[in-house]
Amino acid sequence: MSVRVVARVRPLLPKELDKDVIVRVEPIAEGGGPHNVVKIPNPKNEAEEFSFTFNGVYGQATSQEELFNAEVAPHIKALFQGLDITLFAYGVTGTGKTHTMRGGMKLADRGVIPRLLSHVFRRGKKMVKDADGLVDVDVALSYYEIYNDKVFDLLEPPEKRTPAGLPLREKDNRTHVVGLSERKCVDLRDFEKLYIAANQNRVTASTKLNAHSSRSHAILRVKVSQTTMDASGNVLAMRESTASAIDLAGSEDNRRTDNGRERLVESAAINKSLFVLSQCVDAIARGEKRIPYRESKMTRILSLGQNNGITVMILNLAPVRSYHLDTLSSLTVSSRAKRI
Ligand code: ADP
Ligand code: MG
Repeated sequence: MSVRVVARVRPLLPKELDKDVIVRVEPIAEGGGPHNVVKIPNPKNEAEEFSFTFNGVYGQATSQEELFNAEVAPHIKALFQGLDITLFAYGVTGTGKTHTMRGGMKLADRGVIPRLLSHVFRRGKKMVKDADGLVDVDVALSYYEIYNDKVFDLLEPPEKRTPAGLPLREKDNRTHVVGLSERKCVDLRDFEKLYIAANQNRVTASTKLNAHSSRSHAILRVKVSQTTMDASGNVLAMRESTASAIDLAGSEDNRRTDNGRERLVESAAINKSLFVLSQCVDAIARGEKRIPYRESKMTRILSLGQNNGITVMILNLAPVRSYHLDTLSSLTVSSRAKRI
């Protein structure tokens, strides 16, 4: 079981060009100091600077390809060896979570998710070819969101939603979302069609509720099934593993901005699930046996920290002063990101 917590600072947006940059990253040790540090001024005393260490830090100039190659590509092999991989984008709304996970339409702007799928399809095809057809690789997708602690299928149109969402059931020591759809996908184009439609479902559903998609966690699950056969087609072995990519709800302190009743109920659900998530990440990082993954729906469905999995948490940060307090609380939330 392993976890990496890395920080990514997004570039300035056009409307921010005149703004004050207050977040710095130091990927390489200066004068023998610690590596992988994010630095930010103390809001109460600007002469003082706080430093937080990570397993990796990525500055404003980091491309989508660089981030993927450094933090995700190395785990694709493990996925095909049967390990689950779980990738989180954590951070305040507007810091680049969706950009990191989904990314833009242009090839170079593509985020972690389409790149992951592209690598999975490529590796799967190569395995089938290398084994002269005695290995079969299937890729199936599920995509759901957790809003107010309820699970909704994103591969189904919003009209099919029930107010209570999909129920969970325990079976074979795992938590299943009852009725969650799963679609087989054969190539990247196939995937993109499904993904675009599902993201549209997400927008439509949240508009209907007069909510915002930044208030829910969006979880994409890629199930990779490998079957080994003999020459007459008898199944010799089967192996299944999943890669999950999660665009988390915004971690901002909502009490400061919008405190309508609806929003407060949402905030409580978001805070609880993000808190449990950070507790799980900390427990995994410390090598503890007991991971409190059952304490929230999301970590429970993900079986976070079970099955020898690999977890990567990408903490997204905005570089400018207008995010100062939110950035500081983001940096503090995971004690894995140690203040030094
Ligand atoms: P979030 O999902 O955390 O609310 P977004 O991914 O929507 O944040 O990012 C906010 C804005 O910043 C968007 O306009 C997005 O295109 C832009 N952005 C975020 N990260 C980057 C990046 N690494 N490079 C260029 N633009 C980025
Ligand atoms: Mg977003």
